[in-house]
Amino acid sequence: MTAAALAGAIASGEASAEEAARAHLDRIGAVDEKVHAFLHVDTEGALRAARAVDAKRAAGEKLGPLAGVPLALKDLITTEGVPTTCGSKILEGWIPPYDATVTKRLKDAGVVVLGKTNMDEFAMGSSTETSAYGPTGNPWDLTRIPGGSGGGSSASIASYQAPLAIGTDTGGSIRQPASVTGTVGVKPTYGAVSRYGLVAFSSSLDQAGPCARNVLDTALLHSVIAGHDPMDSTSIDAPVPDVVAAARQGREQGIAGMRVGVVKEFAGEGYQAGVEQRFREAVEVLRGLGAEVVEISCPHFTYALPAYYLIAPSECSSNLARFDAMRYGLRVGDDGSHSAEEVTALTREAGFGDEVKRRIMLGTYALSSGYYDAYYGQAQKVRTLITRDFDAAFAAVDVLVSPTTPTTAFPIGERVDDPMAMYLADLCTIPSNLAGNAAMSVPCGLAPEDGLPVGLQIIAPPMADDRLYRVGAAVEAALTDSWGHPILEEAPSL
Ligand code: GLN
Repeated sequence: MTAAALAGAIASGEASAEEAARAHLDRIGAVDEKVHAFLHVDTEGALRAARAVDAKRAAGEKLGPLAGVPLALKDLITTEGVPTTCGSKILEGWIPPYDATVTKRLKDAGVVVLGKTNMDEFAMGSSTETSAYGPTGNPWDLTRIPGGSGGGSSASIASYQAPLAIGTDTGGSIRQPASVTGTVGVKPTYGAVSRYGLVAFSSSLDQAGPCARNVLDTALLHSVIAGHDPMDSTSIDAPVPDVVAAARQGREQGIAGMRVGVVKEFAGEGYQAGVEQRFREAVEVLRGLGAEVVEISCPHFTYALPAYYLIAPSECSSNLARFDAMRYGLRVGDDGSHSAEEVTALTREAGFGDEVKRRIMLGTYALSSGYYDAYYGQAQKVRTLITRDFDAAFAAVDVLVSPTTPTTAFPIGERVDDPMAMYLADLCTIPSNLAGNAAMSVPCGLAPEDGLPVGLQIIAPPMADDRLYRVGAAVEAALTDSWGHPILEEAPSL
């Protein structure tokens, strides 16, 4: 069932929230040994939350639009009393004493958190292979990556272990996993969803967002988690656009008259033929729906990847300094024979994986005196140029579109020893993180050469997240009609 339909069934009493939770916990028990989407399943907590929703309903209290619907939560979002590892050994055994704002809003809405999902360590990666707890499989083909860093979240919904999930997107970690698993993922406008209680990777880029198997469910989840939070100084104090109405409008009324720009730079060398083909067809669908389609050049997008790989490591080298063996999780060498500094060093040596160490070293170098202006400062200037490209584009069109990622899901192991090849997976997603605007990935078919999902990226100006849902829902409805079924028609047999 979709999350919207399940919530309706629970609200009407046709199903109970407890049944819904048990059905999903059973599915996790049956398939997650193969998929490995979850790092921690909170059976007791989920059943308790579900029973509370059922009790509320029995008492005649009004239920929210997603009350009783199960959800999978990326393991960098803190959950009071429930482990939060961020995919790292350094946080093994850490039990947060508080809930992130996202967690709190989900609980207040009656959403049932099933557990915590696997991810690249500290969200650094595009395949979930840098997780200290082993990789996650793509439900379409378990030998392939489910995307990253939020591969556990995307795999959990693609394998029907949960109808909803939360991811975080610093450079593409919601949209790229959505693209390669045939699901929908949204990176809201920076500041639209509170970062309070999210383990920080790159604070000026990190943004939590909704994941689901269809656009309307994603919109419903968006409206639960978004909105101003005084606990996050970068949270935007403005009304949340009505994304649910926009999704309904797109599905029912289409997008006639909307102006759509095709990003010229996101094509050509490095793009899989079947990805380009499905993307071109999706653009024709938009045209068929009455959109006015034009080509738009964003010349500085070519420099987004190098700018990102200076800014994100710089911020992470500072953010991850807090893992000092004193405050959280792992502590190595605390046997009386080492100084406090040595314990910190031994713990970081043992607790961080290679990719995290690589980023900390890169960032520390880029921020060191004498290099700061040449690297970090220069990258920030490029960031401004990218924002200006977006400003110019959005003066001419309502949304931009591109493939979400240059290729379909690649085999597990293929890029893990080649950081540059791994970084290329986020070529098309990173500009929106640098500029802070909103973007979505919605399925647009299967690549003919490998039968794997392809994602269409829709990009909107800051605080115009509703446009993503309108266009996304319209494309989804048109494509679903042409295929005769949703892309993920039913639970895959695993
Ligand atoms: N793949 C990118 C990186 O490794 C983006 C990760 C993310 O969005 N968290 O940094």
